[in-house]
Amino acid sequence: MKRDIKALVSQMTLEEKASLCSGLDFWHTKGVERLGIPPIMLTDGPHGLRKQRASADHLGLFDSVPATCFPSAAGLASSWDRELIYQVGVSLGEECQAEDVAVLLGPGANIKRSPLCGRNFEYFSEDPYLSSRMAASHIQGVQSQGVGTSLKHFAANNQEHRRMTSDSVVDERTLREIYLASFEYAVKEAQPWAVMCSYNKVNGTYASENEYLLTDILKEEWGHEGFVVSDWGAVNERVDGLAAGLELEMPASGGANDRKIVEAVCSGKLPEEKLDRAVERLLRVIFKAVDQKKPGASYDADAHHALARKVARESMVLLKNEDGILPLRKGGKIAVIGELAVKPRYQGGGSSHIKPIKLEDIREEIVKSAGSKAQVIYAQGYDLQQDVTDDALVEEAKRTAAQADVAVIFAGLPERYESEGFDRTHLRLPDNQIRLIEAVAGVQSRVVVVLSNGAPVEMPWLGSVKGLLEAYLGGQALGGAIADLLFGDANPCGKLAETFPQRLEHNPSQLNFPGEGDRVEYREGLFVGYRYYDAKQIEPLFPFGFGLSYTTFEYSNLVVGKKSIRDDEQVTVSVNVTNTGSRQGKEIVQLYVRDVESSVIRPVKELKGFAKVDLQPGETKTVTFTLGKRSFAYYNVELKDWHVESGEFEILIGRSSRDIVLKDTLQVESTQVIKPICHRNSTIGDLMGNPEAQALVMDWIKRTPFGAMAAADDTHSDMMQAMMKYLPLRGLVGFSGGALTEEALDELLKQLNG
Ligand code: BGC
Repeated sequence: MKRDIKALVSQMTLEEKASLCSGLDFWHTKGVERLGIPPIMLTDGPHGLRKQRASADHLGLFDSVPATCFPSAAGLASSWDRELIYQVGVSLGEECQAEDVAVLLGPGANIKRSPLCGRNFEYFSEDPYLSSRMAASHIQGVQSQGVGTSLKHFAANNQEHRRMTSDSVVDERTLREIYLASFEYAVKEAQPWAVMCSYNKVNGTYASENEYLLTDILKEEWGHEGFVVSDWGAVNERVDGLAAGLELEMPASGGANDRKIVEAVCSGKLPEEKLDRAVERLLRVIFKAVDQKKPGASYDADAHHALARKVARESMVLLKNEDGILPLRKGGKIAVIGELAVKPRYQGGGSSHIKPIKLEDIREEIVKSAGSKAQVIYAQGYDLQQDVTDDALVEEAKRTAAQADVAVIFAGLPERYESEGFDRTHLRLPDNQIRLIEAVAGVQSRVVVVLSNGAPVEMPWLGSVKGLLEAYLGGQALGGAIADLLFGDANPCGKLAETFPQRLEHNPSQLNFPGEGDRVEYREGLFVGYRYYDAKQIEPLFPFGFGLSYTTFEYSNLVVGKKSIRDDEQVTVSVNVTNTGSRQGKEIVQLYVRDVESSVIRPVKELKGFAKVDLQPGETKTVTFTLGKRSFAYYNVELKDWHVESGEFEILIGRSSRDIVLKDTLQVESTQVIKPICHRNSTIGDLMGNPEAQALVMDWIKRTPFGAMAAADDTHSDMMQAMMKYLPLRGLVGFSGGALTEEALDELLKQLNG
């Protein structure tokens, strides 16, 4: 329905307008009955619906209506499958429609700066390209159902430690290229109805009152059309927040902050137009929800469960498969070991914690998949509630494992280890689980470990096991998905969306995580995740982009469409992928770009494209990518814009970030002329890089003794040139023996800057 929002705002009293800028209660906005403005409901998110029945809390402590629990974002991203995530979004949207929820609070697009962050399970990746694509598909899926999303937590909210007071100090280029880029594409491409600002400060200012983030970048530069909602309780000074671009405060403020807004308008501190613009943004979304509401909507819970199982299968990553131990033979004797097999960890703790419609039992699913002749025996192995080894449980597990053909150990992080609200302090599994794995491997040579965790763990025991399946937090259908993969009814096709370091200390943020007091400096800069391990040549335990399959793939015929392009042109890149094994499988093809030579610090390579292809045995498909300016650019803080440095770039095609199989090169020419301001301390070398300046400066040099020396064809001239490279212009005056004067330098600068 077409509505005149501005006219509606003009009919509202100042008090009514202010009232719309904060919640009615924990989960609803306020309405204005006389004008037909209804309240709408916002609730968590992101991988399932958490609609609380009556009471409200944001830690997921109280009961909520049953909803499909999909794998959490760490798993979803490992599918690298845009279409699948879109489908998850569609299902979430359907459930929201059925439950009368207007906006789902998610997805989360924060970058995994450290594997310690307690909320990494809820975030997609360490890489902004992958993370923003996954977020965009999630948003598009949900919103296709007439339900909004709230992309969170904007911005630089990469730890839980002191999350409501800590200040993320990030340099501009890193912010743009890593932390904001993870939101940017999702905002521009998918237009989430809302963006949730985070609890923390960013470079000294609370995100909730950060005009640079909320208005300059989000609204003006990226063109976000929806509203900004505070994370629950993230408002510091309400009026400052509103002025900075925070439209909605959640949850309710008991009217206190509404009064502050009214007072600020009355006293002239806050221009009423600002409030009007905020209310317009809110009303546009509120009526979008009203207009797209599907009364009496319902959904097919079985279909959603089936999708959850499919997604879980595609999210899990096969990390080790020595001697082809997997898939397991059906009909054998299988020892299932570990309490996590019967008390599965399938979702993360905190505000995203939902009540699943049903929950598959891992052991039962293994029994079903193993075949009628199989024998599945179980031992608890450890007590999930504690870390101390119970020798009796270990002994029982050894006996069980020793009599079987194979032992499958279910290990992982108990909920008390990782959750919203706190960060881990180490990457170890509980001691009793490590001890169990080692003990079982001592009596059984065929051991497979299945991990349930939201983020990387260290694996000192890896060498003693033959198989490893990273199941992440697989949602309500994890049991069937694990069984499907273990017995080969499905072929693993996930790849890691994050690096697994050998040791925590290898992680780039380690020296500055979680910071000192309320200040965390992102001193590793751009070198987050694989960007760091690449640059430092540190061998990760498992690299970004890595994952195995039960089949094999060959890559061939890399074609880069053009040999050279301008930065305002695009180029297509294609590559053939063939399934060379004997069973159907999916391969995730990754494209990285490397700037061969650059005057600025750049990562060794960066992900700029990916595709997932489904191939029958012997089948070949051509995968095509399109690259444009952003594939080659870095953020130039002086230009305040993305900039490509002219030169050669390598196009790298890989199975993972550490397994590049094909490469070619491409020349990219910049169309942006950077005219630096020249001053008396500009160096000769820098000026010589600019063709226009070069002639003027050369002419100057010729008037000094350096001219003749540099022109001579001998080793002195090489030395001379090397020394002059970093000589500032003023140095020429000093060394010219009077031939050049300060006045002449002023004249030269005028010409250079002219
Ligand atoms: C979390 C958000 C969540 C909100 C509402 C906050 O504590 O950080 O992610 O959406 O609570 O539950």
